[in-house]
Amino acid sequence: MAIQYSAAEDDPDADARPKGAALITGAASGIGAAIAGKLAEDGWPVHVCDAAPDAVAEFASAHPDIDASVADVRDPQAAARVVAHAIAQHGSIGVLINNAGVAGMTAAIEDVDDDDWRRTIDININGAFYFLKAAAPAMKAAGGGAIINIASTAALFGYPQRTAYAASKWALIGMTKTLAMELGPFGVRVNAVCPGSVEGPRIDGVIERDAAHRGMAPEEVRRIYESQVSMRRFVTKNDIADTCAFLASDRARMISGQVISVDGHTETLTFPIK
Ligand code: NAD
Repeated sequence: MAIQYSAAEDDPDADARPKGAALITGAASGIGAAIAGKLAEDGWPVHVCDAAPDAVAEFASAHPDIDASVADVRDPQAAARVVAHAIAQHGSIGVLINNAGVAGMTAAIEDVDDDDWRRTIDININGAFYFLKAAAPAMKAAGGGAIINIASTAALFGYPQRTAYAASKWALIGMTKTLAMELGPFGVRVNAVCPGSVEGPRIDGVIERDAAHRGMAPEEVRRIYESQVSMRRFVTKNDIADTCAFLASDRARMISGQVISVDGHTETLTFPIK
């Protein structure tokens, strides 16, 4: 008797399920671009959107096989347009990954700039909402699909001096849990992935701003960040992409409503020094 290596082999309907496009927001660079590359490798027809026209142009020339467009997730009409385009091209949305997000400022609550607060909430929460709202009807109608909200380890702890970011990422967990319940009966799975600090320019910027805010050297701040992680190092964007590829696949067909950290095990986000 042949040994079964994949849970999907238990499911006679697996191949019959609609696939559709894999749509990833904020994906012309950074983690989203790595996820896009990985899903394309796995055979998904991928569509990325991003607010930065130059990054989109650069991504498009490096990845002629991947559809890329300019869209700001804060614009509900842009979300509807991108979703409609992906459906027109590929019949449905098989995977939606809400990845676009900004770090927001590092500041004591009384010093948080109102505009920075609104921008962080607008991109990180409202942006995900507009894409969820636009994509859910097609996913329900197709009878399946996977949604992945890219949150953060900031969604698991209190995060002093990063109130807007933490609040926005905790909100994504609320949306994940709620929509897993709402969309599960339609065959749509909804999970959140929580990256720890990811090697790359974004975390370098966060560390630099944090160091300036605390009057410390960036290297010292980086060492403290690393010491907060059991594995004592940052993750890579490919670590996140691999987890998303798994969650998007039929191998994860019974995983929904989960909050999955890819972080080397964050023990705390509390900074020992003010
Ligand atoms: P990044 O800044 O490197 O890339 C983000 C991309 O999103 C950029 O291409 C940017 O142009 C795009 N973007 C920004 N605002 C947008 C908007 N309004 N509409 C559409 N696109 C927009 O960030 P990253 O490190 O790749 O982070 C991706 C996601 O992972 C974010 O949600 C972030 O909060 C989360 N995350 C990152 C880290 C990390 O250490 N880098 C850790 C935890 C969670």
